[in-house]
Amino acid sequence: MCEICLSTPCRSQCPNAPEPTPVLQCSRCEEDIFEGEQYLCLPDGPLCETCLDDMTIYEFLEFTGEQLSRAEGSLYE
Ligand SMILES: [Zn+2]
Ligand SMILES: [Zn+2]
Repeated sequence: MCEICLSTPCRSQCPNAPEPTPVLQCSRCEEDIFEGEQYLCLPDGPLCETCLDDMTIYEFLEFTGEQLSRAEGSLYE
């Protein structure tokens, strides 16, 4: 048992706790994405949850290469 946090395995706040394993790197903020975290898999690379939280839907669309169409003409002709 650990002497600092008195747990086995260590609690995540404990200085003796093992570092979480980075699995991927976010293609936008370049932060590590750790084992067990969620991310969005895009053709250009993974996008972490923090970035997804940060982005507006418009930024998200731009990031994924989607574009809004501008409505033109008339439905009633
Ligand atoms: Zn500990
Ligand atoms: Zn990110």
